[in-house]
Amino acid sequence: NAETSFHMITHDDAAALLHQRAKFAHKGHFGHALMIGGSRGKIGAVVLASRACLHSGVGLLSVHLPQGGELVLHTAVPEAMVEADQNEKYVTHVEISGKHNAVGIGCGLGTHPQTAKALEDILTRAICPMVIDADALNLIATHPELKSLLSANTIVTPHPVEFDRLAGKSSSGAERLENARQWAVDHQCVVVLKGAYTAVINALGEVWFNSTGNPGMATAGSGDVLTGILLALLAQDYDPFDAARLGVYLHGLAGDLASNATSQEFLTAGVLIDFLGSAFKKMQ
Ligand code: AMP
Ligand code: MG
Repeated sequence: NAETSFHMITHDDAAALLHQRAKFAHKGHFGHALMIGGSRGKIGAVVLASRACLHSGVGLLSVHLPQGGELVLHTAVPEAMVEADQNEKYVTHVEISGKHNAVGIGCGLGTHPQTAKALEDILTRAICPMVIDADALNLIATHPELKSLLSANTIVTPHPVEFDRLAGKSSSGAERLENARQWAVDHQCVVVLKGAYTAVINALGEVWFNSTGNPGMATAGSGDVLTGILLALLAQDYDPFDAARLGVYLHGLAGDLASNATSQEFLTAGVLIDFLGSAFKKMQ
């Protein structure tokens, strides 16, 4: 396609996207995010995403998770407010209110049919920017009617297997990239196709490859950290395409700083979060 444009996200590109925090700012300026996720046995995913969100500049964070995870969340992430579901094991119903200015959904969510109903309800009613990851993408893959509910201010963050579930199997990386470009154009949202050189694609089909990151990041919960970062940026009123480009750069930079200070083998999602502060610092 002659109109396709490919770019690399450089340090200067990312640094130019970062907002300055005003001297007299208060937490109301940095948004109120809602993180929805978790299911029995996968509460850790929403803990990691929530911690990453709070360490990426958000003003306030509410977390909706199954009732069984409430104590764990309060203990692991005391900065977050918790809205427990009526159900013990998985998410069944979420109150969407005007007070949240960005929603993140999918980390550890599980794929229970009642959770699919809750997701449909959220996609129908939420008007704020959203980041959709993991099991929320798997639910969209098995309930294709949900695709029409995606709005233009949405970021989807599939890894290659999740993307193939959504869009059909690709036979090569090049074919998957082209399919992801088409998917972004067809659904008019931002696609973050994750992996080495993560591709960020906008609704025009413009492709930006990330230049940070390393194989140490191929570890459990790494993607949940990215979802938290992206949710925080959306809540702070970053344009979704800018949030995605800055977010993947920061996430990869945290991974590079972490692996330089320790090793790729030592890297876990929790360590990635520990290095997010230094990653932001390098942007300033
Ligand atoms: P997930 O599979 O959802 O946990 O996401 C994995 C995260 O780690 C994504 O943000 C990937 O871009 C990143 N990642 C995984 N493997 C690599 C790699 N080999 N090089 C750079 N980043 C990677
Ligand atoms: Mg993931």
